[in-house]
Amino acid sequence: MLTHSHLPTLTAANALVVPRICRHHDIYLAGYQSAMYKLAGSAGVESFPPFGSFGSRRACLEELVKQIAVLEEYVSTEGPYLLGANPSAADCAVLPTAVFWMRMLPMFEGMDVGAAMGPKLTKWWQFMTTKDQVGVKVTAEISGALDGWESSGRWAPVLGAGTRDSAPRTLFDKILAKEIGSDVVYEDEIVLAFRDINPVAPSHVLIIPKRRDGLTQLQHATPEHKALLGHMMAVAVPAVVKAEQLEAYRLVVNDGEQACQSVFHLHMHVIGGKDLSWPPGA
Ligand code: 5GP
Repeated sequence: MLTHSHLPTLTAANALVVPRICRHHDIYLAGYQSAMYKLAGSAGVESFPPFGSFGSRRACLEELVKQIAVLEEYVSTEGPYLLGANPSAADCAVLPTAVFWMRMLPMFEGMDVGAAMGPKLTKWWQFMTTKDQVGVKVTAEISGALDGWESSGRWAPVLGAGTRDSAPRTLFDKILAKEIGSDVVYEDEIVLAFRDINPVAPSHVLIIPKRRDGLTQLQHATPEHKALLGHMMAVAVPAVVKAEQLEAYRLVVNDGEQACQSVFHLHMHVIGGKDLSWPPGA
């Protein structure tokens, strides 16, 4: 199969679906594909700031998964190609992108490629990557290029893929899951702020991200954490300061055991409500 000049004729009904799949691919699948590997804010990615109309890489990836599920609906039930017995431009368009999503989407927590693909696409993928000669070749070429990316650390700074951590859950996860109670001072979609159980001042509040996203400690931050860290500093801290009616306060991040960090889920201490001494280091 698979050079545009040699595409055999499809049945009239199936031929009508070819442009639909190609457009769907170009706009929604190829369009969102780069959220799997491009760095936010890196050179050349400004046109994708940070992820098009999406607020985050995750939101864009979630949409990509949804659009794969939409593609499943367009696929014919006959197989083995997307639109029946014969290959078409639709197979040419989708296969390279499918190699990317099969390889990369599982690197992101919670992205369920299997569920998105459904039985028709899954069967098609198996056929194209094991039986169809050109499909096997295309898959091998792209996979080889992706191996190169892998060995050059391409995904290392990509939030949710390279920066995912395997550190154990902490008691803050239990607080977030409400398995352990806490005295909440402020909460939004991104952070939770609650009183420290062992306060060192009349007001002592901890601000934590709801998704740890690799931030067991601050030194694991990458440029992709800028939005989260900015939110903590510029939205959550002022909200806590207002709620606690603090005129002055100290913001503390203990980063690492030697700096007395005891819970390995990034957190900021907002400490105030009394005259604080300086230096704090002892
Ligand atoms: P770190 O020492 O890691 O910078 O700060 C962890 C903070 O979590 C400590 O100040 C500690 O008092 C607080 N903490 C530990 N366990 C609990 C708990 O179960 N509930 C609350 N609210 N704070 C806790």
